Amino acid sequence: MYKSLFVSVRQRVTSTLLVSTLALSGVIAVAGNAKADQRFAPVDLRTPLNAQLAALPPKERQALDKLVEAAHLMDALFLRQVWVGNEPMLLRLVESHSPLVEDFLLYKGPWSRLDKDKPFVTGAPSKPPQANFYPLDATKAEVEAWMSRLPTVEQTAARGFFTTIRRGADKKLVAVPYRLEYAAELGEASRLLSEAAALTSDAKLKDFLVKRAAALLSDDYYASDVAWMAIDGVIEPTLGPYEVYEDEWFNAKAAYEAFIGLRDEAETQKLARFSSSLQELESHLPMAPALRNPKIGATAPIRVVNQVFAGGDARHGVTTAAYNLPNDERVTREKGTKRVMLKNVQEAKFAKVLLPIAAVVLDKAGQSQIGFDAFFTHILMHELLHGLGPHSVAGVTVRAKLEGAYSAIEEAKADISGLWAMQYLVDKGVIDKKIGATMYTTYLASTFRSIRFGTNEAHGKGTAMQLNYFLDHGAVKVSADGTFAVVPGKIAAVVAELAGVLLTVEGHGDKKEADRLLATLGVVRPEVQRALDRLKAVPVDIAPTY
Ligand code: ZN
Repeated sequence: MYKSLFVSVRQRVTSTLLVSTLALSGVIAVAGNAKADQRFAPVDLRTPLNAQLAALPPKERQALDKLVEAAHLMDALFLRQVWVGNEPMLLRLVESHSPLVEDFLLYKGPWSRLDKDKPFVTGAPSKPPQANFYPLDATKAEVEAWMSRLPTVEQTAARGFFTTIRRGADKKLVAVPYRLEYAAELGEASRLLSEAAALTSDAKLKDFLVKRAAALLSDDYYASDVAWMAIDGVIEPTLGPYEVYEDEWFNAKAAYEAFIGLRDEAETQKLARFSSSLQELESHLPMAPALRNPKIGATAPIRVVNQVFAGGDARHGVTTAAYNLPNDERVTREKGTKRVMLKNVQEAKFAKVLLPIAAVVLDKAGQSQIGFDAFFTHILMHELLHGLGPHSVAGVTVRAKLEGAYSAIEEAKADISGLWAMQYLVDKGVIDKKIGATMYTTYLASTFRSIRFGTNEAHGKGTAMQLNYFLDHGAVKVSADGTFAVVPGKIAAVVAELAGVLLTVEGHGDKKEADRLLATLGVVRPEVQRALDRLKAVPVDIAPTY
């Protein structure tokens, strides 16, 4: 059944391997430095890590290099998953020394993901919503009708994460497992992972790599997902098929991606200190004592790493600064999820986006009161505070109670109670006073960064709500010249008060109040819009090079 498919698969493999080879040899990276999308500020993430890389024992370093090589293959595979025409078009652009190569690689195809997938290469069609997971000439209705007629076992496979849908020679639809569809690259990636496993002396890393090397060839990821949860060493790799957003038809097909990171020791120690304060924070949350949890459960593990390489679905358009995996519900039910924070990515966003925003929206005094330590510590607290506060009301989850308002309220809660928690820990001497002196102004600048992504998205809406609450309660003021400033004597109390409002909404599952808060405060007011209008020249995000 697969025979005729194999022929076309093999032809494509040849071109993908060529693309991978080009990427590995750096040909692609230098092909078009001329005309990249100016909204992305280029940043070198790798060079600042040279000292940390040099400090790795030789065999660990060799293992890391193998992992980066395998990650390049995920990059090439994802390129093929996005559109069947991607590889020939890229090769054509490279051969003609087109200045569009860089943008093509940034966006993983000829469409600008910042402009609703508008094509930027002449002759490119509109972006196919089925990506290259389903035949280009099929319709969603045809695929759905075909799948629903299949016997149960075959239907499960056809609808599953790890199959593509193709047409056979007889034009009939057929499900092809990833292990066959992408056999050449997966074979190569599996070999690299096995070699890295043989090199490393980190037992948990070795366990993951051995199991993931097998999974790439069997499409059975359970054991290696469980092993991934346990990794807790210097090298932190994530590599495989994960997110399903690229399949806009069914959100069913997993896209290949890779993040290769090195643990950040200082932040890891900081996290350990915060983690031991979690029960104390819960017991002092600014809400009615009856809503507090006297015995919080185990929290999801958090790792802070510096990214050495990202590829595939992890590298197109806006750069991922943190991720939560795995997605397999069987694993998350049994083991939870692990959050990985990419510190050097956050650092680059801070320098290239947040500082320029601060220079425009803050008053003169404020510009000297912003710092990366405050910015990053707040990101950590945001994650930790997701785990604190009310999660259910009389056995019903807060998510179910608040319905559509949940995401914006929960994101705002994590933000604002994170800020409250930082003040609490500054007062206790757990967090440096220097961070205490910069955290509110740094946070004010970062609210503009979030609102810029739009208030139709949960995080932007929740951030606008906070900023308006600050303005209405005198904790932030706007000057005649349109710049914003924190009011020092007011901010801490207003932060605690708003944290109390949001925690109480969640504690009571009060959807009416949640909707009211978002409708009245989750909006962009004229003075904020004027500040946003002045940010047009500031980059939207970064474009990392490695
Ligand atoms: Zn969050």
